[in-house]
Amino acid sequence: MNSKNKRKELSAPPLAFSQLIANLLVSCINGLIKGLPKDDSFGKKLKELEGVVRKGVHITPATGLAKEIEEYFDRLATHQKFLKDEKEIVITMVREIAETIGVMVSSSTGLEGDIGQCVKNLEQADNIKDILQLRDTFVEEIQKVREHSLTLKDELEAHRKQSTVLAEKLEESQAQALVDPLTNALNRAAYNLKMGQMINEFKRYKESWAILVLDIDNFKKFNDTYGHLMGDKVLKSVSGTVRDSIRISDQIFRYGGEEFVVFLSRVDKKIATQLAEKICRQVENDYFVDGDRKLKVTISIGGAIVSEEDTESSLFERADKAMYRAKNNGRNQVIMDL
Ligand code: GH3
Ligand code: MG
Ligand code: MG
Repeated sequence: MNSKNKRKELSAPPLAFSQLIANLLVSCINGLIKGLPKDDSFGKKLKELEGVVRKGVHITPATGLAKEIEEYFDRLATHQKFLKDEKEIVITMVREIAETIGVMVSSSTGLEGDIGQCVKNLEQADNIKDILQLRDTFVEEIQKVREHSLTLKDELEAHRKQSTVLAEKLEESQAQALVDPLTNALNRAAYNLKMGQMINEFKRYKESWAILVLDIDNFKKFNDTYGHLMGDKVLKSVSGTVRDSIRISDQIFRYGGEEFVVFLSRVDKKIATQLAEKICRQVENDYFVDGDRKLKVTISIGGAIVSEEDTESSLFERADKAMYRAKNNGRNQVIMDL
């Protein structure tokens, strides 16, 4: 081969290679866009770039490495969204401390201006340490005030404790993985963090919410029949189906093995039952394609609505027991705790 021909070969890579690179590029672009705010200008540029690539090469649905890239970005986005939501909650708690203090401070003390400034600083703070520092400033302010009611003082102390616990857990979890790599659902560590915080929030706001415990039916038999690898694919597929059937504000966690937990916010028993029923039917109707086979699984769901008396473990246990009742009752169904 002379050097002229060699150059020609280098400047025109085979179509299959261009196609592969284009597919990988589109997966990277989509992944990057997922992590950016909707109107981000860099995101717009990336969209334009995607348009250019798509004009030149026909893009096929992601498989192999391209799929792995998409899943990686998906995990990253889930992790970041979880941490962002949790940080919002700490900020809300600290803002409430400021408001409680605002109630305690009479206008004649002249402290309202200081508090106002602290609230402004809070809105601008973007790391947990600064937020906690500001909270302590609020609390110091209150020491200057002599006349205050006991109830408000207790409330303040409870807030301070809760926000500290949550912030500590959040700091710890920033360094650890919060997403399960097989199913891309949030993992058990994220569940522990969220459950504690949801119970606390209910005690404060009395806003009803529900927990669902989901378990794949006869999964051991499925593994024995089709192999563990196929079982893994089904776990992934079930997690995706559940995630697609819940609202954006609701979250799915892989509790362990073939068991998942879903938190449904702002629901009463009737709505929670309807949503659980919808998830159950969605999984039942879905199938997983393996060559010319269509593989199906079903799930059993137990649910419980949070109550005043609940602790983290009692609430989970009520839903878990209901799930076992659904198993004993024939599987592929929903049973809510009374
Ligand atoms: P039931 O309807 O009563 O829930 O029956 P089951 O067979 O689903 O329940 P059992 O607890 O007997 O078995 C659970 C099975 O789930 C056994 C285990 O191999 C499988 N499993 C757990 N984690 C994984 C995983 O990560 N991948 C795969 N492929 N299988 C898993
Ligand atoms: Mg099972
Ligand atoms: Mg199980």
